Amino acid sequence: MSAEFPIHLTDRGKGWRKTRKNVRLEYEDGTCLDTSVLGESHLERGNFTISGGSVNGYYAEPGSDKKIRVTNIAGGRDGRLLKECPHCGEAKPLDEFDDSGRVTDDQRDQSQCSECRNRYYRER
Ligand SMILES: [Zn+2]
Repeated sequence: MSAEFPIHLTDRGKGWRKTRKNVRLEYEDGTCLDTSVLGESHLERGNFTISGGSVNGYYAEPGSDKKIRVTNIAGGRDGRLLKECPHCGEAKPLDEFDDSGRVTDDQRDQSQCSECRNRYYRER
């Protein structure tokens, strides 16, 4: 999957659309930045992790009001956003996650990485 910027960060669980969450980005060079909206500039600045663990967020689909959810955002590396897979626990770039097949008003991303999903379907 891919995501558009900016990504608005939210608290987990109910009311994710309403609650903004301020998180601390911890960069490799030791600097920190507090934000509730992730933009491309955050990725361009360097590699970072999110203090306190991964967060959820959403971005708006270009040209529409539709909001698309991104779960388990874990940081940024080499200019790419990382998502944490709850299954293998690894933080991987967004493009190693499939898009969810479900398309609803509440479209959301796939939480497990493609590798875990493929393994699951193979072993069934
Ligand atoms: Zn995985």
